[in-house]
Amino acid sequence: MHILVTGGAGFIGSNLVDVLMEQGHEVTVLDNLSVGKVSNIEHHLSSDRFHFVNDSILNVGILERLIRQVDLIYHLAAVVGVKYVVDDPLTAIVTNVRGTENVLEMAFKYWVRTVIASSSEIHGKSTAVPLKEDGDRLLGPTTVGRWSYSDAKAIDEYFALAYAKKGLPVSVVRYFNAYGPRLDPKGYGSVIAKFFTQALRGEPLTVFDDGRQTRCFTYVADTIRGTMLAATVKEAAGQVFNIGSDRETSINELALLIKELTGSSSEVVHISYEEAYGKAFEETRRRVPDVTRAREVLGFEAQVPLDEGLRRTLDWFTGES
Ligand code: UDP
Repeated sequence: MHILVTGGAGFIGSNLVDVLMEQGHEVTVLDNLSVGKVSNIEHHLSSDRFHFVNDSILNVGILERLIRQVDLIYHLAAVVGVKYVVDDPLTAIVTNVRGTENVLEMAFKYWVRTVIASSSEIHGKSTAVPLKEDGDRLLGPTTVGRWSYSDAKAIDEYFALAYAKKGLPVSVVRYFNAYGPRLDPKGYGSVIAKFFTQALRGEPLTVFDDGRQTRCFTYVADTIRGTMLAATVKEAAGQVFNIGSDRETSINELALLIKELTGSSSEVVHISYEEAYGKAFEETRRRVPDVTRAREVLGFEAQVPLDEGLRRTLDWFTGES
């Protein structure tokens, strides 16, 4: 197949590209390198099955030219990471809403099966754990910038479901805290990347608040397997799936695990949300997916245990893989 991966130079996108190339597909990556990096895909540049287009999903002309040629689209391009969204909400909203609208419009025009990457952030601060795909969303006020990301992704999902209603084979995958090789070491989008960087530099590991908030960290190979199943299982069309591990880890626990794995002498410090993100900030305390639908429809279950995934991630951070 000829497959378009938007955001294919990013963390999850480039890991997906590796698998698709390994399977022998022709792959086109559309990425404006805002957070993606050429180094994530440069090992494919010499292949005649691989094409890299350095442009934005906001460029409708480019999208049309690419989408009319492909058999499948993985739409992963987005502004992600709480810190990016809080710092520049306008860019995040425009990219995440208009960009996805553009992709879906062209997918519909040329009738191309599409997978839309969404986020567990959709659920906001809902306490209805484990979070079901059809559970109620609970968000704070519009003056708290963080929630704009949740709403932007929700609009993306509404678009996807609306096109599905018109017959387009489109699925939505909601990622739960993916981590692994090629995470941005600056750690804007991931506490794991941030803790590894801090631990390896001997700097304090900055746990926010009391550190008892939890996440279900999902190794990127699992994230990708779920994504590809959503593109290939027939019954997945028109549906939304939580893609993640359901093993819950507190941030305190994570900090200790990373300290131990790296053998770092860094201390673990607690800092307030206000210090970290500024005044208007709200947090999701527990974020655990209900994975029933992914298991039943896609046959998906996350497999890589956290300690193993962290070890592989550390190898990448230290240049050993
Ligand atoms: N976090 C932390 N210290 C940091 C960065 C994040 O304690 O330096 C916490 C954050 O408050 C959240 C969790 O780690 O509870 C996951 O944050 P991340 O930014 O990785 O993603 P989120 O799940 O919030 O989108």
